Amino acid sequence: MRVRKYGLFLAVLFAALVSTAQLGAQSVAVTLVKAGRLLDPRTGNVLAPATVLIEGDKIKQVGLSSQIGVPAGAKIIDLGNATLLPGLIDGHTHLLLDIVVPPEAESQRHLNGKFAPELLLAIVESPTKRAFLGAQMAREDLESGITTVRNLGHSGIDGDTELRDAINAGRVPGPRILASARKLITRGDYVQNLNPALAESILQQEFLFIDGADQARRAIRQNVFQHVDVIKVTADENLTVAELSAAVEEAHRNHLKVAVHAVDKTSIQTAIDAGADSIEHGDQATDEQFKQMRDKGIFLDLTPTAYNHFLLKIMEPSVVLTPAWRSARAVTDTHHDQLYDQLVQRVLKSGVKFAAGTDMCWYWPGKTCGQASVTTLLNLHAAGVPALDVIRAITVNAAEMLGWQDKIGAIEPGKFADLVAVTDDPATDITEVERVRFVMKNGEVVKNDFAAH
Ligand SMILES: [Zn+2]
Repeated sequence: MRVRKYGLFLAVLFAALVSTAQLGAQSVAVTLVKAGRLLDPRTGNVLAPATVLIEGDKIKQVGLSSQIGVPAGAKIIDLGNATLLPGLIDGHTHLLLDIVVPPEAESQRHLNGKFAPELLLAIVESPTKRAFLGAQMAREDLESGITTVRNLGHSGIDGDTELRDAINAGRVPGPRILASARKLITRGDYVQNLNPALAESILQQEFLFIDGADQARRAIRQNVFQHVDVIKVTADENLTVAELSAAVEEAHRNHLKVAVHAVDKTSIQTAIDAGADSIEHGDQATDEQFKQMRDKGIFLDLTPTAYNHFLLKIMEPSVVLTPAWRSARAVTDTHHDQLYDQLVQRVLKSGVKFAAGTDMCWYWPGKTCGQASVTTLLNLHAAGVPALDVIRAITVNAAEMLGWQDKIGAIEPGKFADLVAVTDDPATDITEVERVRFVMKNGEVVKNDFAAH
């Protein structure tokens, strides 16, 4: 009797499981996205007219519209003559920091190392407030077509890992986030001259210090405990190869890539010698260093943030600038741009793999975080990178830099259905990317301005 009852129970359970499985199979949404053109950044090829078949959150099939049939029950999204691209990737951002650059006098009185006092304010204010700011920036990025970001520090202890999880759980809209949690730094020039009695506890809210190889390993383990996706280290002239090597080894043992901020020549060499996975910024790299990076397969993550009078643009609408400051700044900026143009040519000639990031952490009056970010990425074109290479840098190349080349960065079967569409051809007019009118992430439509007209 007991055995028969148990058998009956199993039969009922099995039936329940089968019907659940059937329900599951039926509920996978099938979507066809049709567009006049589809640009494959990897090859530069264009499919016209194109159809993308999506099942659930993944791309199932991509081809000419004549080659792909309409499955029963499929939802059709017709984007007319639009051009489809993979969702954009910002390889270097800071979603939980939005610095309002203060007037000159304020900076002079309170500047205590890089960024402060604005960075200091972000650290000591409520982390809850900061989290909501991050949620807003994440939404704004997504609305501009940025479907994935790598967030490299300046998020407090767990701001970006929690934002990532909230987005993945569907609680707030935003891009996929690779989160680094706190960045590893030496006791260099960030936020100095604090009240000595409070300094340690303030700094611990934002940074993990490297003081010797053992501490570097410990810092990695603290971030592993925080479930990070990537490690961020800021290299300066104080950081030794032994310290950074220990961090890289510990990170790699945990299957995490290491992104190293390095601007000056010495720091760049430290990053190369220690086996960094990507070098962030790299502004002062020599040709010999680009060669070493190419040979070792180290990515260069270009950040054209300061290009094209960025600081003047973000300050002018809200800050009274003295004529002397303004003209001095204009001279500095012009010189910076000339050097950056040369950098870009050297990068293109070297054959080093490159992606791009915004380093966005600045309030730009009149623009959302997403708009400011895309405008910043396109500075690469003004600096001399051909349009198709810019698109590669923020799609397929960035995906490889992140180690997510099997998931994102291209409109190919098996990848996540992250798509954007623009009206005209971005390979001819790169500014089209600033006017993304359709965004899909994970097979779900985030916005579709084509439908409204
Ligand atoms: Zn940065």
